[in-house]
Amino acid sequence: MPFCTQCGTSVHPAAAFCQNCGAPQPRQTGQFEGLLEGLSNRNASILCYIPIFGVIPAILFLASQKYRRNTRVRFNAFQALYLFVAWLIVSIAAPTLLLNGYPGWGLEHLVLALLKLGLLICWIYLLVKAAQEQEVRLPIIGDLAARSTTEQL
Ligand SMILES: [Zn+2]
Repeated sequence: MPFCTQCGTSVHPAAAFCQNCGAPQPRQTGQFEGLLEGLSNRNASILCYIPIFGVIPAILFLASQKYRRNTRVRFNAFQALYLFVAWLIVSIAAPTLLLNGYPGWGLEHLVLALLKLGLLICWIYLLVKAAQEQEVRLPIIGDLAARSTTEQL
């Protein structure tokens, strides 16, 4: 328990103000790091694998001090990040480059739709496995993630 810088009353580590005199308290850690404090490895991994939006917590975890040396969470965050990049390629870059506004429903459309579906299934599968605390390494994406994890340590 830290003490108030003004009156010496003990204050909660997360408290921004002293409950006795109301003096603002210096932050023990950054606000974001404080939020991460109570997060388990399992829950952090689950957050990374929320389809599409999980990329946001994944990037935050990779940038955070707490997970700097946590290979498990870092691996999952990298894998989620690369899955998101693959999703961007399939859903935005590939249609723009390959189809070039080509109308209708050709074979290319079908292949891209199947790829998108496959990525979505991967995401949900990884989410379920993270909830069961099992680590899954996807082909290619998982290998890239494993390499990034060891490089960054
Ligand atoms: Zn005080």
